[in-house]
Amino acid sequence: TLLKGADVAMYIAKRNRNEYAIYSPEHDNYNAHRLELLHDLRAAIQHHDIGIAFQPKLDLRNQIITGVEALARWTHPKHGIIPPNDFIPILEQTGLIKTFTLQILEKAVGYCKNCNNKGYRLSVAVNLSMHNLHDTNLPQQIAAILDRHNLDKQFLMLEITESAIMHNPELSLKILTELNTMGVQLSVDDFGTGYSSLSYLKRLPVQQLKIDRSFVSDMMDDRDDATIVRSTIDLAHNLGLNTVAEGVETEQVLETLKQMHCDHAQGYLISRPLSPDDFMSYLLAGEW
Ligand code: C2E
Ligand code: CA
Ligand code: CA
Repeated sequence: TLLKGADVAMYIAKRNRNEYAIYSPEHDNYNAHRLELLHDLRAAIQHHDIGIAFQPKLDLRNQIITGVEALARWTHPKHGIIPPNDFIPILEQTGLIKTFTLQILEKAVGYCKNCNNKGYRLSVAVNLSMHNLHDTNLPQQIAAILDRHNLDKQFLMLEITESAIMHNPELSLKILTELNTMGVQLSVDDFGTGYSSLSYLKRLPVQQLKIDRSFVSDMMDDRDDATIVRSTIDLAHNLGLNTVAEGVETEQVLETLKQMHCDHAQGYLISRPLSPDDFMSYLLAGEW
């Protein structure tokens, strides 16, 4: 612990061009491993090396795949696969998130267009982070990407978490409204886990609620979770929104969701996130 603290202090001293610095826990963002990752992330973004996996969303009424979620995948040259939950926060804290999000959007939109060209009417969902919702250039940049790939705007969906919105509700609302006016679809991710404000939800120009997997995965054993899932579906429908349940891992959960009139399901039962090529094979195999 001492050595780690010393490393951090050394970094601060070098950065500030001081002769010495005193470690304090709020400097922990600068620990050596994080700095190495940040350095390599920068390079990965520069070389467009961050890949995408696609996970299908199943339409429960018609039993067909109607969309995919794009999930970022980074294979580090030395440390192997680094999960997005480990590297996205670094991107968020350093401002690299803007370039990164545009790269993911570019790849995801291009792939979706390709699927549509092959006759699959699929929408693609891309995750936005909190900082994207504070970026007034974003709507225009997204419009440019859609134009470049000639993809109809309704085939792009953006997933945003409640907590990202609540960080700066007024600015987020402005940007989301602009995106929605353009014709892009919006979905509230991890619904039920954040600090949700129903009065904001009512004003949000979104089309979809994604029920968090923590409720979905336990709903067969926990009656409260089942009640939350059912109530969220009803709430969404009453507000004119559709629902996706995340983390669907068993047939039993899938059947229960159908009985609750949930609109879409996503999870390992339907498919794990797949590489672009594997997803294409999955579509061709036509399992669903
Ligand atoms: P998320 O948006 O809630 O994405 C769903 C996560 O649940 C994914 O993890 C997915 O692999 C996982 N998952 C899907 N089905 C199941 C299931 O049945 N069971 C279980 N246990 N897990 C399931 P992943 O890919 O590790 O991504 C984690 C988070 O990282 C995402 O959560 C999202 O918040 C963030 N993320 C991923 N890609 C991006 C991106 O391109 N941009 C941004 N801003 N965030 C991203
Ligand atoms: Ca998501
Ligand atoms: Ca989620």
